Amino acid sequence: MNIEIDKTTKDIVLMVRAMGTEYLRPLGLEADRTGVAIPKDHPFYFMIAQSGYMSQSLRSEKQPGEKSPGLSGDNSKASNTSVRTVLIAEEGSYWDRGAMVSLPGPGLGGPPVQSMGTKEQKERFFSIFKQKERPVWAAFAMTEPQAGSDVARIATRAVKDGNEWVLNGQKMYSSNSPRAEWVVVFATVDPSLGRDGHRAFVVEANTPGFEILRVEEKMGIKAYETASFALTDCRIPEDNLLGGHEYYLNKSNKGFGGAMRTFNATRPIVSAMGVGIARAAYDVAKQFVEDEFPKHSFNRINRIKDTLSQMQQNIVFSRLLCLKAAWLLDMGKPNSFEAAQAKLFAPSLCLKVTESAKEILGEAGLCQDRLLEKFARDVKAIDIVEGTQQIQNLVVARNLIGREIIKD
Ligand SMILES: Cc1cc2nc3c(=O)[nH]c(=O)nc-3n(C[C@H](O)[C@H](O)[C@H](O)COP(=O)(O)OP(=O)(O)OC[C@H]3O[C@@H](n4cnc5c(N)ncnc54)[C@H](O)[C@@H]3O)c2cc1C
Repeated sequence: MNIEIDKTTKDIVLMVRAMGTEYLRPLGLEADRTGVAIPKDHPFYFMIAQSGYMSQSLRSEKQPGEKSPGLSGDNSKASNTSVRTVLIAEEGSYWDRGAMVSLPGPGLGGPPVQSMGTKEQKERFFSIFKQKERPVWAAFAMTEPQAGSDVARIATRAVKDGNEWVLNGQKMYSSNSPRAEWVVVFATVDPSLGRDGHRAFVVEANTPGFEILRVEEKMGIKAYETASFALTDCRIPEDNLLGGHEYYLNKSNKGFGGAMRTFNATRPIVSAMGVGIARAAYDVAKQFVEDEFPKHSFNRINRIKDTLSQMQQNIVFSRLLCLKAAWLLDMGKPNSFEAAQAKLFAPSLCLKVTESAKEILGEAGLCQDRLLEKFARDVKAIDIVEGTQQIQNLVVARNLIGREIIKD
């Protein structure tokens, strides 16, 4: 792995840091206190739109042989979008993961369009993020009441009718869907085919039959909405089938292949959000130690020193896993194993870091003004979204067969 961080990425990370203290942290705390997501017409979002942030995660189509700035190697497929997005996700989540996820842009809807969409579809669906006048969102919907970890069981039906598709079903836990301009919806053309029957559609929010049913009351990350919605005789133009009919004739693209590529892109990003929260918890604990224990007495408190050191190692280890998975993707190499590894370890290690921080502070760690109890609530959800720990274990185990321990 050879990652050089280019200047544009560094500048964006610094921009996120600057808006962190002023906007992300206070808005996230306000949402946590009231239980209400940041309103979509908040002036902050217009400011974000004007800054051009909404298009930062869009992978530009390169000419063959063209090299991306900031990446070593001469792989013609190389880009730096994933590494950049991972670093931005980490920094934003340091300030507030909920506010970070709430930011306008393609969000989790971006990767499936990026990996499965035709050139025309990318142009059409991403063009709204290139304007700077108003904030716009997109979303992703795989999960259903009967299909969470076991996505093969999705039951939302897609039936072809002339040059349209008719969708019927229900989705749940779809982040940012109530404010999205479009949502990538995974449906099945035939449930008996399992994953091979899956197709991905872009459902535009103004489509008749698309109806938000309920916004969840979450234990943390309250700055953005996570919602259920119904699709009732939703008529989708044939052009909104991601990749078009031909895409699904290729065996490796059949149904779940596209979803898997989406997860390979999003798992390092979601995991990096855990790293951001863990860093924030670590800083609170370190500050507390520096304030409460003068240097000479701190030297005698071996347990606290060990804990701080462990916390820091967990953060570094988690960050490296996220970066490696993202870097492989940027280099156009397979990263399913590394993406699952990042998702397997980073969220639980980061949860451990927040727990350790609470331990170091003792009773003070449970006080709301120390933020640690909020960090612990916020980081827990990362363990679940984009596949739980147990599911990542399955993916990692499948990949281990026939694999050398040190590959790269
Ligand atoms: C905050 C938040 C935001 C989300 N955003 C989105 C989104 O934008 N779009 C979207 O589509 N979904 C989203 N989700 C849904 C998320 O991806 C699912 O919750 C997740 O995949 C788990 O599914 P489930 O909740 O149905 O749990 P289940 O699948 O019912 O799992 C319950 C428990 O059983 C375990 N388990 C299940 N199967 C196995 C197995 N084979 N072996 C061992 N253990 C197993 C799981 O690990 C888990 O611990 C979001 C969830 C949350 C919490």
